Amino acid sequence: MVPRVIFGNGSFSQIGDILKLKRKSATAPFIFLIDDVFEGKELATRIPLVENDKTIFVSSEFEPKTYQVDALVEQIKAEYNELPSGIIGIGGGTLLDMAKAVAIMLTNPGSSAEYQGWDLVKNPAVYHVGVPTISGTGAEVSRTTVLLGPERKLGINSDYTPFDQVVLDPDLTQGVSKDQWFYTGMDCYIHCVESLEGTFLNAFSQSYGEKAMELCHDVYLKDIPESESRDKLMMASWHGGMSIAYSQVGVAHALSYGLSYLLGVKHGIGNCLVFNHLEEFYPEGVKVFYKMMDKHNITLPTGICKDLTDDEFTTMINVALSLEPLWENALGKDWKKTATPEKLKSIYKKI
Ligand code: NAD
Ligand code: ZN
Repeated sequence: MVPRVIFGNGSFSQIGDILKLKRKSATAPFIFLIDDVFEGKELATRIPLVENDKTIFVSSEFEPKTYQVDALVEQIKAEYNELPSGIIGIGGGTLLDMAKAVAIMLTNPGSSAEYQGWDLVKNPAVYHVGVPTISGTGAEVSRTTVLLGPERKLGINSDYTPFDQVVLDPDLTQGVSKDQWFYTGMDCYIHCVESLEGTFLNAFSQSYGEKAMELCHDVYLKDIPESESRDKLMMASWHGGMSIAYSQVGVAHALSYGLSYLLGVKHGIGNCLVFNHLEEFYPEGVKVFYKMMDKHNITLPTGICKDLTDDEFTTMINVALSLEPLWENALGKDWKKTATPEKLKSIYKKI
């Protein structure tokens, strides 16, 4: 679990005080990885750079890749003679995952691709801090950093992955576009459905999942003031992340990973595209999802898979079916009887 967290509008201003206590030496810098959407914006000017601290703007146009993480680590090692005091990720799931992965790879040899999987990381990461600027993924609280590698899209899941400190400042999420707010927020809603409907459910996950679900309903189905909505979605994301940390996601995430691997479809929208066709697996969850789309006038793109070849469908299906724990959570031990390649193809064809 994340051992330290602060919450509240304006709390980002405390980052300088928090970091002061963690500086290892005058020459060991803090490196701020920030989404380049903030280049030239006020948030970037509020980063408290001291000594040889550095800001690196990173694009979130594409989801983080192992070679990108490796290149950032090389860059930091080449520029400084000692390990940084810490890595601070500022942005959405893309930047948060990037920061976690860079912090791990600064103290572990080889390529980040070698650590995709469960508990493969040997050495503790350097101190790392997460500052979400969009809510939904739960990346701020999770035990994984999801990377696209040469062979798979898979997280580095380890006890060294979670942030040492998280700063939850709902004000920072102002400026997110309506569609993106919906897609990334639905990632959280889908985490809740998949956790609460899954066979791995336990009291720990259920308690967080139910709270996150209630908050999602407030945000996406009720008419509440915008600032309350930002606060609630940030806490929904946190609780949704906590819920899946001790259970697992399910069918939507498995299929969405296939889409993302082959076509580069981003996580939030990919989940929505898939979930839209999962009435069979999550009848109640999908019904409410339609209501949410309707209330916010969201129209999903169509025809994403219409020109794909048989080989391409097979690639997506193989990626999706390789995520065995997700299927087992969703459908139980006999999941292979229901989740056949033909079934998956028929769903992908509708997207
Ligand atoms: P994202 O980080 O890619 O951001 C989405 C878009 O919103 C980007 O264009 C970004 O520039 C913009 N944006 C972010 N904050 C903004 C702000 N305040 N104002 C204006 N624009 C802003 O998207 P995401 O949905 O947050 O994250 C998706 C990534 O998270 C994927 O790579 C996925 O694999 C990963 N993920 C990780 C976990 C985990 O547990 N580690 C869980 C779910 C998803
Ligand atoms: Zn997700």
